[in-house]
Amino acid sequence: MAQQEHPAITNFRNYIRIKTVQPDPDYASCTAFLKEQAQALGAEVHVEECVPGKPVVVMTIRGQDPSLPSVLLNSHTDVVPVYPEHWKYDPFSAFKDEKGNIYGRGTQDMKCVGLQYVEALKQLQEAGHKFLRTIHLTFVPDEEIAGGNGMGKFVETDYFKKMNVGFALDEGYANPTEKFNLFYGERSVWWLLVKCPGQPGHGSQFLENTAGQKILKVVTSFLKFRDAEEKRLRDTPGLFLGDVTTVNLTMLKGGVQLNVVPAELTVGFDVRISPKVDLKEFENTIARWCREAGEDVTYEFAEKGHSSDVTCVEDGKNPWWDAFAAACKKEGVSLVKQIFPAGTDSRFLRERGVPALGFSPMNHTLVLLHDHNEYLNEKIYLRGIQIYTSILLAVANLKP
Ligand code: ZN
Repeated sequence: MAQQEHPAITNFRNYIRIKTVQPDPDYASCTAFLKEQAQALGAEVHVEECVPGKPVVVMTIRGQDPSLPSVLLNSHTDVVPVYPEHWKYDPFSAFKDEKGNIYGRGTQDMKCVGLQYVEALKQLQEAGHKFLRTIHLTFVPDEEIAGGNGMGKFVETDYFKKMNVGFALDEGYANPTEKFNLFYGERSVWWLLVKCPGQPGHGSQFLENTAGQKILKVVTSFLKFRDAEEKRLRDTPGLFLGDVTTVNLTMLKGGVQLNVVPAELTVGFDVRISPKVDLKEFENTIARWCREAGEDVTYEFAEKGHSSDVTCVEDGKNPWWDAFAAACKKEGVSLVKQIFPAGTDSRFLRERGVPALGFSPMNHTLVLLHDHNEYLNEKIYLRGIQIYTSILLAVANLKP
């Protein structure tokens, strides 16, 4: 006879089946589902719509001393689009194979984490535990489209201020080895366009001051820097992607006809800057590259993040970290501390001075976020709940 499925797994699979997929996520069904979860947990629930149709669902378990700074457990409810033809199973069916692998968009990023918090709290309450500090769970929309209308707006509300958050947990990603990834900062995202104007004219001449000559210099400067950073990452033991700055040429615009030298060419770059870099200095370098490329070369930003804030993860210097780290040690969880290479909602929290750690308890798991055939094994999921019980006990009972 087939073994009966753990109710936490059934619950998780039901969450995966809700199509909160960008660009048109079904947030209404998701909110209804989360309200049921809150009820099962015995938590207060509040829905804050900073932007109509984009709900932030907040669950709250009051602590014994609600005046103390609270603990925030964050997850986003939306997931990235899928190419169903590349999937072995329907990405919203939460199909479970004979090995216990549950396939579905959001199984790793990050519906797992959202419900693991809930399950861990359920278990702790059933075991009779109380918490000194108030615990809030936020389920936010639109993280996968940069979070500006989700966590970005929510942190500006009075409701958020009243939550008096002292410490937050948010997403990380899987690690294929026996270790777990732990993220304490993230890189700043800069998207910029460099415009190279020049002398237009007939394609048969040696014109001077052309857009083509300038854009070549711009591209060379950016890509030389890219090569140097790539080499530094490769040649320096202990460095992770988040410790270096990546540059990619992502757009090229210009030209009207093959025999016409254009009056302007534009090149776009996606730059992800390590928090170890001084942003002002880095912008000065970009300005210099543009000057060196020739007359009137200018740049403008489509996105200019400043995620320089990192959360202290040194022992003995941040009590929240000490509590978190001690709980991980107790659980036999070995952490790889690093900078998140892309963006998460944690940056909005860190910008407001809230220490935030990115942690998704998935070891022995291939990194499949945003990939085809995203899956998570049920044993890893259940083990994650166990890990959270220790972490939540430690941080929610942290003495002032
Ligand atoms: Zn995510």
